[in-house]
Amino acid sequence: MTLDLKKKLIEAGRVLAHEGQGDYVAGHVTARLPDGSGHFLMKPAGIGLEEMNEDNVISCDASGARIGGSMPRHNEVFIHSEVLRARPDVNAVVHTHPSHVVAFSSLGKPFLPVVSDATIFDELPIFDETTDLIVNAERGAAVARKLGTNNALILRNHGIVTCGETIEEAVYYALKLDKACKVQLYAEWAGGPKLVGDASDSKIKGQRNRRQDLYQNVFNYVCRCWSRAAGERVAPVCETVVEKK
Ligand SMILES: [Zn+2]
Repeated sequence: MTLDLKKKLIEAGRVLAHEGQGDYVAGHVTARLPDGSGHFLMKPAGIGLEEMNEDNVISCDASGARIGGSMPRHNEVFIHSEVLRARPDVNAVVHTHPSHVVAFSSLGKPFLPVVSDATIFDELPIFDETTDLIVNAERGAAVARKLGTNNALILRNHGIVTCGETIEEAVYYALKLDKACKVQLYAEWAGGPKLVGDASDSKIKGQRNRRQDLYQNVFNYVCRCWSRAAGERVAPVCETVVEKK
């Protein structure tokens, strides 16, 4: 079970990096161990998102202390430990620095449903207590409070926090948030969006685009893209899921 979870975490790093969310060695993703201990697996510090392997993934306890592995731990572990503490429904957390979101967050403008990808975010809290890194439990808890029951949050001038019941869901929200901000930035550059989806359309589209089978299929698709780009003849870890109508 732990090995399967570790493999999925490794693939999550590849998916995020393939989709442009790498920031040299910054950014991290975690997955809660399903043993009730509150412990979680985490990408180590000092390497890129796509460089995780079965030997270098570390594990942490509920306070964020490293309890397994030999590589260093990210100093922003508290984003993960505190979101996992506050949200028993969440099993995976992503923190990255996607350029489009960071640029968008500097505008101080409302996030609009310019593109369908934006409609999965009923609310998109923006954490602006600091633009510094989240390097202690108090700040991590403040981020978790701001996140509330949502799947995503913007750290202004810094990055994003996304989460989900599964690794695939947390990654999906990270990818969609970057794309939604990118498209809105395009519209802002072209003079500002004049026409956006109305609230009832957005609600329907949001519901249509929030499904575990979709999260898995998007994740698996990008895994296959990564494998092809890397010249690997390996099958993705998980099988394609038939979409529900
Ligand atoms: Zn950060």
